[in-house]
Amino acid sequence: MSEPISGESKSSFSISSLSRQPRVLMVDDEPQMLESLRRLVEAQSYDVVTAGCGKDALAAIDKMQFDVILLDLNMPDMSGIGVLSSLTERGVDTPVIVVSGDNAIDSAVNALRHGATDFIRKPYKPEELLRRISNTLNNRQLEKENDQIQQRLQQSEKWHRFLVNTSPDFIYTLDSEGCFTFVNDRVESLLEYKRDELIGRHYSEIIFEEDLFRAEHVFNERRSDSRASRNVEMRLKCNPGNNRPRAMNGRFCTVEVTATGIYERQESRFETRFMGTYGVVKDISDRKQAEETVHYQTYHDLLTGLPNRAKFRDHLGRALVSAKRKGQNLSIMILDLDNFRVINDSLGHGVGDEMLIHVAARLRQCLKDEDVLARLGGDEFALLMPNVSSRLESTVVGHKVVEELNVPLKIKGHELYITASVGASIAPEDGAVADTLIRQTEIAMYQAKSQGGCRLQFWQPAMQDAFSGRIQIETDLRRALANDEFVLFYQPQVDTTSGAIKGFEALIRWWHPDRGLVSPNAFIPIAEETGVIVPIGEWVMREAAAQQAVWRKLGLPQVKVSVNISPRQLETPDFVGSVMRALEANQLEPGSLELEITESVLMRDVESNAAKLVQLASAGVLLAIDDFGTGYSSLKYLSRFPIHTLKIDRAFVKDPERDGMSIVNAIIGMGRNLNLNVIAEGVENIAQLEQLRALNCEEAQGYLFGMPMSALEATKLLEQQMHGKDDVAKVG
Ligand code: C2E
Ligand code: MG
Ligand code: MG
Repeated sequence: MSEPISGESKSSFSISSLSRQPRVLMVDDEPQMLESLRRLVEAQSYDVVTAGCGKDALAAIDKMQFDVILLDLNMPDMSGIGVLSSLTERGVDTPVIVVSGDNAIDSAVNALRHGATDFIRKPYKPEELLRRISNTLNNRQLEKENDQIQQRLQQSEKWHRFLVNTSPDFIYTLDSEGCFTFVNDRVESLLEYKRDELIGRHYSEIIFEEDLFRAEHVFNERRSDSRASRNVEMRLKCNPGNNRPRAMNGRFCTVEVTATGIYERQESRFETRFMGTYGVVKDISDRKQAEETVHYQTYHDLLTGLPNRAKFRDHLGRALVSAKRKGQNLSIMILDLDNFRVINDSLGHGVGDEMLIHVAARLRQCLKDEDVLARLGGDEFALLMPNVSSRLESTVVGHKVVEELNVPLKIKGHELYITASVGASIAPEDGAVADTLIRQTEIAMYQAKSQGGCRLQFWQPAMQDAFSGRIQIETDLRRALANDEFVLFYQPQVDTTSGAIKGFEALIRWWHPDRGLVSPNAFIPIAEETGVIVPIGEWVMREAAAQQAVWRKLGLPQVKVSVNISPRQLETPDFVGSVMRALEANQLEPGSLELEITESVLMRDVESNAAKLVQLASAGVLLAIDDFGTGYSSLKYLSRFPIHTLKIDRAFVKDPERDGMSIVNAIIGMGRNLNLNVIAEGVENIAQLEQLRALNCEEAQGYLFGMPMSALEATKLLEQQMHGKDDVAKVG
């Protein structure tokens, strides 16, 4: 429906439909004309609005949007040209088809000049008018679409520029000569160049000199397929600048460059033209630094900063190759500190660590610049001398090392004595393979240690057998336990005045199927190292308690049995339980059992160890300190632990003529003060016994009174004592 326009109160234009079909405004001062036009156009499913004069037309345009306007040129109130001008002023860009009876070409030109889109002359054929309207609308639609595409393009370009500039990577393009044509913002933070500064400059200006050769392949990359350069590592120079502090000059960053050639398609489908390259540069400085740190940590000991075992092996491998080429000898030494564990356990790890640092410094002093010093772990160091003339030269260095370490160290107010056991070997004489040399030198070092430490020992082929013996023992020990190959021997502990047996020390023996009776010195240290000592120790405890029960059943005199406890055994969580179970299973008084522990166990200062010992002592179990005098002999822990007995090490008893006895005297005095029972170990002759008696040492143990003996022999001895045939006492 359409309505003619009249007056202010009514709508000044008419609308044929409000749906969003193409909307046409028709402006003509002839009502019949307007009406026939409206019918014609409405029949084509257009929305039609009519206006009878220029003013009404503008009012309609102000109110709504049209897709096309049909405008008569000659109207009484306002010419069509006037309407066109007003449209321009209002910024309305609706296409206008001018309809006019004016024949002059001028008026058409004039209308077009004033912004009309098309011109149609009256009279026209209806289909001609409809075709023009439809064309105009089509063109209009195309224009709109075009605009949208344009807008989207602009948006996308903006978006891409944003992505490129905010990329964490430095992105660039080079021309075919290798000069920068584009760089993104990242270059400013990465290399400290302004973007403009780099444009036009050759890429080689930012490459770290040593990497120029590698960079050439990447920056001149012409390939654009999967073979193009990917993640090539190199260093880029930062802007040396003018006013930069000198320290910052020569600064570089490590990057990975991925580049690809850029080509332009030519007329012919198969021809392309090389334009330059496009590249992405990823800053990997942080990763690089992390890698270097990890690498350093993998190959160095963090405490001393020395190379570690892996690095030492590496050095040795290369030195062996070089020595072979030059026909030279090389020597390696492996050194282990003696009793370092005691220092660590008693004075704490802080002192231990400081000692290792001091030792490293002293060792360095013994070496030439070309020599390598490494820390293999714990208190074990290694020395590599890549060029020695002879075994003698290596021996001289080895002795120097031993002597240099023998000088006391002052650490945190303590004056500490440390010695080292040094193993040495020479290549190619002793071997030419790194691992073999290291292993052999370690064996030589163990040999030096087993001879009492503080010495140099060169590798000898015969040591190999002893060493493989060790490995064999470990396997055998586990089997021995299962096969019941262990036995306990008992050594009497007697009263020095009456000669009466006060107790027995239980000492383990191994009935080896091939080797016969094996002494504990040959396997206890290995059992301790490997942990087999734990089940072995538990067996000893059960066996000793069972033997006690047998003697009791036989009605023999009640004597205590001492059992040796290894540190590792004490550290097991259930240690107290295992002792108490052994006693209960045999219905024994706790006081019939004595546990022998060494000084070092107490000095380890492990809280839980102390708690266990206190728990056992309060249950009535006796505690003895074995080999007293060989460790730190500190009174401090004697008062802290519930100790019952001190066993004076046999080394002091052995030489009564020398100052041994004065130490025995001191220990006896110390024991008396603390109300402890004191036993002298290793009494072999009457002279020793007499001295001990003179010092009022009340108890003794040693070959003089009896060797460690089988349970059967010990039983006989107890029987003799019960029947008054006291052989032992007669000796005294
Ligand atoms: P230890 O506890 O100090 O035992 C004393 C060692 O001195 C025994 O050696 C004994 O035979 C020896 N001996 C006794 N009297 C004399 C003497 O007059 N002169 C000399 N020269 N030696 C004498 P053995 O039985 O070879 O034991 C050596 C070490 O093995 C023991 O030293 C002890 O530390 C350890 N051990 C022995 N049995 C066991 C055990 O069941 N468990 C643990 N953990 N260690 C054990
Ligand atoms: Mg003992
Ligand atoms: Mg002993």
